[in-house]
Amino acid sequence: MKKQTYYQCPVCHSSWTTIGEAINCRNRHQAKIEKWCYCEVCGQGWNAHAHWGEKGAADLARKCEQEHKDKGETEELSRVTFFLSGGTKGRYYPLKGEERK
Ligand SMILES: [Zn+2]
Ligand SMILES: [Zn+2]
Repeated sequence: MKKQTYYQCPVCHSSWTTIGEAINCRNRHQAKIEKWCYCEVCGQGWNAHAHWGEKGAADLARKCEQEHKDKGETEELSRVTFFLSGGTKGRYYPLKGEERK
């Protein structure tokens, strides 16, 4: 009988005869590109690889931003999102004149 060991890439599940090949395969997948479109106000994100595509994701993020604008909550909510996300999302609007008084 013959016994053969295979090493499986944990990402794409291809089988390789050496662990080195399997690791190489896995490493290649780590650079997988993902694109997301985020609403700059509430930080909600849409994956550009979903069924709506990159344009659709951008439209959804823009629509979300517009809705915040319509509700007049853009600055306040952006500031909250900015602090809650540690500065990775949202936007910091400096306090306006009347708030500084
Ligand atoms: Zn692989
Ligand atoms: Zn939003």
